[in-house]
Amino acid sequence: MRNVIIIGSGPAGWTAAVYAARAELKPLLFEGPEPGGQLTTTTEIENFPGFPKGILGTELMAQMREQAARFGTEIISENVTALDLTARPFRVQAGGQDYETKTVIISTGATARRLGLESEKQLYGKGVSACATCDGFFFKGKKVIVVGGGDSAMEEANFLTRFADKVTLIHRRDAFRASKIMQERTFKNPKIEVIWNTAVEEILGVAAGHVTGVKLKDMLTGEMSELPIDGVFSAIGHVPNTELFKHSLELDEKGYIKTVPGTPRTSIPGVFAAGDVQDPHYRQAVTAAGSGCAAAIEAERYLRD
Ligand code: NAP
Repeated sequence: MRNVIIIGSGPAGWTAAVYAARAELKPLLFEGPEPGGQLTTTTEIENFPGFPKGILGTELMAQMREQAARFGTEIISENVTALDLTARPFRVQAGGQDYETKTVIISTGATARRLGLESEKQLYGKGVSACATCDGFFFKGKKVIVVGGGDSAMEEANFLTRFADKVTLIHRRDAFRASKIMQERTFKNPKIEVIWNTAVEEILGVAAGHVTGVKLKDMLTGEMSELPIDGVFSAIGHVPNTELFKHSLELDEKGYIKTVPGTPRTSIPGVFAAGDVQDPHYRQAVTAAGSGCAAAIEAERYLRD
């Protein structure tokens, strides 16, 4: 019988593990299909406090893992394949084995929706990104595109104009779904140009090893064109990794785990959620880490009471 099982190994999961382990709860953490989570898909992280010279995403996650292990977290490199939250103790299945636990911390994160192009896969981290906050700085004086028409696309496009000389917003329809205020900010920004009714058909630069341009398709006429640029930012939404929980926990209309506002408590007492899996708003490593800490403290209090 475990005190706490943590599912997922991004900053939320590792921080929960550090806190739970230091509280002598002997946590068990399942690393999941992408150990280290989304941070391992970015390059350098310059906005995680405490690393003034920046740190590689993979390195930061390796250090968090080491810190969690140092205090006695048991780490299993398996995917959780099923869990039963309907009865106590809760049951978690992974690697063909069953585990029983008094509490669960879910930190399975979210996955940035991708355009789904082969060239996007090959050039990811080489000019293709889904996070302007993470990678915008590397595009000083360059030309980039942002794909999408929601608030994230507006926010990313505006943010990128701090660095890039020119930002072109590419949207598949003739109207944005973003809030009015974000649209106005975008239209007023002289560095942003909008191309409507257009889809990115291909990202160019695979042979060069970095993005050199994009092939665009006009959705109304079918006409193809090429635009030379240095970076592609997709802001076409995120998908929370909640497939496993959709039948047992309350989710919001976009699939994020619902928590009691300001806490990591889910609809089931003893089950907590931390990080991007319950956060459609901030999605930062440091906010995820903060909520992981809160989840561990809540789990400890729950067990104590
Ligand atoms: P979103 O609102 O779902 O918008 C996604 C956008 O991407 C849509 O314009 C959609 O086009 C487009 N899209 C989706 N799949 C695509 C594909 N395969 N190819 C090309 N385009 C595609 O997502 P979001 O912008 O990330 O926002 C998520 C939530 O967070 C929203 O509720 C938003 O209001 C909120 N948010 C708020 C702020 C803020 O207030 N400052 C900032 C960021 C996010 P269509 O329009 O044609 O569907």
